[in-house]
Amino acid sequence: MNRKACVIGAGPNGLAAAIVLAQAGMPVDVLEAESTPGGAARTLELTLPGFRHDFGSAVFPLAAGSPFFSSLPLASHGLRWIHSPAALAHPLDDGTAVMLERDLDRTKDTLGTDGPAWDKLMRPFVEHWTDFAPEILRPVSFIPRHPWLMARFGMVALQPARVAARRFRHPRTRALFAGLAAHSFLSLDEPLSAAFAILMAVPAHAVGWPIARGGAQSLTNALCSFLSTLGGGVRTSTPVQNLGALGDYSLFLCDLTPRQLAMVGGQRLSESYIRQLNTYRYGSGVFKVDYALNAHIPWKAPECLRAATVHVGGSMEEIAVSEKAVRSGQHADRPFVLVAQPSLFDTSRAPAGKHTAWAYCHVPNGSQVNMLAKLEDQIERFAPGFRDCILARRVFLPADLESMDANLVGGDVGGGAVDIRQLLFRPTWRHYATSARDIYICSASTPPGGGVHGMCGYHAAKMALSRLSGG
Ligand SMILES: Cc1cc2nc3c(=O)[nH]c(=O)nc-3n(C[C@H](O)[C@H](O)[C@H](O)COP(=O)(O)OP(=O)(O)OC[C@H]3O[C@@H](n4cnc5c(N)ncnc54)[C@H](O)[C@@H]3O)c2cc1C
Repeated sequence: MNRKACVIGAGPNGLAAAIVLAQAGMPVDVLEAESTPGGAARTLELTLPGFRHDFGSAVFPLAAGSPFFSSLPLASHGLRWIHSPAALAHPLDDGTAVMLERDLDRTKDTLGTDGPAWDKLMRPFVEHWTDFAPEILRPVSFIPRHPWLMARFGMVALQPARVAARRFRHPRTRALFAGLAAHSFLSLDEPLSAAFAILMAVPAHAVGWPIARGGAQSLTNALCSFLSTLGGGVRTSTPVQNLGALGDYSLFLCDLTPRQLAMVGGQRLSESYIRQLNTYRYGSGVFKVDYALNAHIPWKAPECLRAATVHVGGSMEEIAVSEKAVRSGQHADRPFVLVAQPSLFDTSRAPAGKHTAWAYCHVPNGSQVNMLAKLEDQIERFAPGFRDCILARRVFLPADLESMDANLVGGDVGGGAVDIRQLLFRPTWRHYATSARDIYICSASTPPGGGVHGMCGYHAAKMALSRLSGG
């Protein structure tokens, strides 16, 4: 193949697309706006020297379970997954924590009377993960390859999380389920919110919720390193403003969201396609804080120290109130906070005896409200003395996140809202294709959506190659 491709953006999806193209023998240049590749998969010294923080993604169930990333020799390029003993802890006001264990049988035991219901819900997908993962990590298909499995998933997935949680009798289990469902950024009373609880819990049991040794950057570096063995290269500090000015490429794959694609695509895209892009809806944003700590977080429930991820929000009812407020454009009084504590399991993140923590809560898109006190009050509630451990912190409002990765529009970390319409038509009915035959979109604004899995880039590049060869 003597044609050349250009990928705009070196996030996980841009890099995945570039690798697929290079594997097919196509020379490929990746142009990245920031000085470091990775997008929302970067690790930076954001607080004090020697403290390495994940700017965006920190915990990688979908990367570890990604059919595409799993096919690449990333371990030979320096990637090591680290599994905390438990996938997730969810502390409660009685000073205990409900645990999502990696082992499904163990989770079943710890959930007591709700154990069998948890097992019944999750086991079919856990046991058939290698069939399930490719189905959920691609555009929704009305003719799935595993109809029985997907029908079973669809029956629960379409429900609001609060309805699906009625199968559990104990408030502890409902709280666990609600925290998982809150990853959807939907109100827990909205259809599809239950899907996210399953999509988070199933990989926990099937492949784990690992962190990357050295942080998210290690995954990015492994992808870049593998790409270079195929002849591809990443040019950093190269923001693209106009595809038309880029010279002689036969394919453009854009790891951009619709708003940016409309800008850089300019006259190369039809007016009607640009109109469709402009109706795309972004989701809620996040308010994020990175911490340098002089000790680990002093959780009341010591079990929380067994998990790299902690869901801080209390009961299902409280989490539902918090997520509903954000969905209706308000700020939660007691926000649901996602916490990662990677240095407990990876000593490369902080100087000896010190720790890092990463925390965020959901806020309306583009919010300018400083949620620091409310976010820290929530952590203090389950870890009294937390504030005394803080050596330094770095606060990111949505605009700060967007200033370091233009795809994080208004602080939206998932590349766009996930509702029924944008599940089916993401970002338009054409999915990866655009109105121009040589331009494709491959970011988290395409199926299957947000998360570090590279499958948006993979499917976009496969489509581009197939159409290039006349398929
Ligand atoms: C705070 C936060 C926490 C998260 N936590 C997790 C998590 O724990 N686990 C998980 O799986 N996912 C998580 N995510 C989501 C995940 O990181 C994203 O869904 C994923 O990175 C999307 O990949 P992408 O390649 O589509 O976009 P991005 O990673 O955003 O990459 C896009 C790239 O394009 C570049 N770019 C943009 N415009 C231009 C331009 N004009 N010219 C050149 N380059 C350009 C950007 O600089 C960036 O490098 C998190 C995200 C954030 C922000």
